[in-house]
Order: sequence, then C-alpha cells, then structure tokens
Amino acid sequence: MVDQIPAEGSIAPDAKVVPRPRPGVMDIAPYVGGRASAPNVDRVMKLSANESPLGASPMAVQAYGQAGDGLNRYPDGAAKDLRQAIAGVHGINPDQIVCGDGSDELLHLLALGFAGPGDEVLSTEFGFVVYPMVAKSVGATPVQAREKDFTVDVDALLAQVTDKTRIVFVANPNSTGTYIPWAELSRLHDGLPGDVLLVIDSAYAEFVETADYSAGEALVVASSNTIMTRTFSKAYGLAALRLGWCYGPTGVVDVLNRLRGPFNVTAPAQAAGIAALGDVDFLMAVQDHVASWRPWLTRELTRLGLQPIPSVTNFVLVRFPGGASSAAATNAHLAAQGILVRDMDAYGLTDCLRITVGTEEEMRALIASMEDHLGTTS
Ligand SMILES: *Cc1c(COP(=O)(O)O)cnc(C)c1O
Repeated sequence: MVDQIPAEGSIAPDAKVVPRPRPGVMDIAPYVGGRASAPNVDRVMKLSANESPLGASPMAVQAYGQAGDGLNRYPDGAAKDLRQAIAGVHGINPDQIVCGDGSDELLHLLALGFAGPGDEVLSTEFGFVVYPMVAKSVGATPVQAREKDFTVDVDALLAQVTDKTRIVFVANPNSTGTYIPWAELSRLHDGLPGDVLLVIDSAYAEFVETADYSAGEALVVASSNTIMTRTFSKAYGLAALRLGWCYGPTGVVDVLNRLRGPFNVTAPAQAAGIAALGDVDFLMAVQDHVASWRPWLTRELTRLGLQPIPSVTNFVLVRFPGGASSAAATNAHLAAQGILVRDMDAYGLTDCLRITVGTEEEMRALIASMEDHLGTTS
C-alpha cells in the first residue's frame, strides 16, 4: 500500500535540527539598493542608484525586443559575439574578456576563485559595499584602508597589505565620485606582491573626462595580476538587464570561466549589449548630458550652503554642514515629494547624501525642493 501523504501541519518541525549556513554568512549585511518608491507618492524621481537619466539606446531596446523570438533557446554560453563587440570598441583581446550577470557577479566570482577562510580581501572605506560582502561570502576577512578627502589613498592601501592579502579591490572612480590618476593606480600595482590580485572596478569609466585617468586596460596588459571590471548598468543605461564584463590575464579569466554558470548572461542581455556598443551617438549624448548637469548640480548645491565633493561620475556626494540630522531631514523632505536620493549610511557617511545626475526636470525639481527645505530650517 502507498504511504499516506501527511496532512499539512501534521509534521512538527524539530527546531533543534535545522540547516545552518557556513560560519560568517550571517555576518553579511544584505545589500540595500537605492530606494525606488515613497509612500503616498505616485510619480517618483529616482536619483538614488546612479542609473542613466536618458534610458537606454533605442537600438538596444529594439535588439532586446527582437530577442523575444528566441526565448526558447539557451543563450551562447561563451557570449562570443558580445565579447567580440566589446573587444572591438576597447581594442582588447576578446579571449581575455568574461561577461557576467552584472559586474556584481564577476566580483563575487573573483572572491570565490582567489580568496577563502584565513585570507584577507583589501579595499578602501568608500570603495563599494559589495567588496566586503563578497569577501565574507567566501569566508575571507574584509580589510578596509582609510581614504583621504574621500579619495583612494594608495599609501594607506599598501600599508594594509599583509602576507594574507589575496585580493585588492579598488573602485576608480569610487562610490564618492572621486578618482585616482593613472600614475597612482600604477604605483599601487607596483607596490603589490605579484600573487595579490588587483581588481580595478571601473564602473563609471565612461563619465571620466580628465586626461590623467585610465580605466585600467594598460595595467591588465602589462601585468599578470590585474583585472578590470566594467558594467552596462550606468552609462549604457542597461541596469535592468544585468550585464557586466571584465578584462584580465588569461590565468584569471580561466578561473572565472570555470566558476561561472554555463549560461550566466541571458540572450536578450547579450543582444542589447551588442546593440548598445554600436550606438556611439547615444553614449555620447549621455556623456554630454552628465558633463553639463553634474557641474550645474555641484554649483547649485554649493549655492545652498552645502559641500559637494568634486565628482567625475554621474552622481554627486554632498556633505551637510548641519550634520547627520540635517542630511536625514533633507532626505525625508525630498522623499515626501517623490525625489529619491541615496543615504550613505552603508559607508558611515551619515552627514552626506548622494544624488544621481538626472534629467533637467529632475535636477531643477531637486534643487527647488532642497532650497525650500533648507531655506526654512537654517
Ligand atoms: C554600479 C556599480 C557597479 C555595477 O554593478 P552591476 O552589477 O554591473 O550593475 C560596480 N561597481 C560599482 C562601484 C558601482 O557603483
């Protein structure tokens, strides 16, 4: 006779025996993204996640739509055409590119491949909250070097390197919008032991206009321990698709290809990415927009008596002389009007807010609302 299937609720769970995660997993604070909604507000202006104010390239949107015809087929697991397109645009070797489900996935895989319990993973205090998260996820110990004037301090980083250091993550530009010049990046590399992996996260590279900046391609070519990560989430406006890539030495690329999921990048993401790379005019329009509205935003924030940190990205970190309570009150005032910006509590910068460069309408509405609020409270 077939056993009776027990009625729902008839098996008492034994609370003493439950699956337990590996040590350290519960120390990971889950990632909190930029807020996307506010209570009692219909229309929001989302300036909290450094997304593109101009959407995505129409060519990318069209390619994404056309990919709908092939949803029953697995994607090309090697993302060959996409890697070829990236290689063409950047003048690099497609065999040394790995694409990922956002660059976040690649950061995770680098930690998985190169660090573990007992190892240290080094980054800077305002790098990117994901770095300590990925370190903990593999059981390694995150170590953070202080920054100077919200900027990566190469000497402080090098001073934290020990014989346990396996990976150094540097966001350049970092999460405060500042950057270090090529010469400093190169000096950092030269100061690291050859068996330490240097990960240069150049998520905002497309926005940087200064001549002394480099996203890191040349360091990858010139060394065997440097890898550069990039994303389609910011300047290309494809955050929803989750598409990133990295360019690294053959040995590191080989490790990533063993660890990644066999079909880690969806077919619509590959198609849209290729189309986006082909739409140079659209990328330039985004760059032009940010290049004119970032200085405008910075000037207006200064006019309001605040302290914007000079940024080379599509966002501006602003410090409130009135401290954490002033920043929080301003944030609440903006949110009540549907204007969503980012608090920086995850970085310990409670007296700051971070604002994405949005459309002209969004920028003017933001400043008007801040002026309203600060004019009545100061
Ligand atoms: C936005 C961002 C990324 C991009 O992440 P994706 O997973 O590609 O969307 C990576 N690094 C930094 C510092 C970022 O701000």
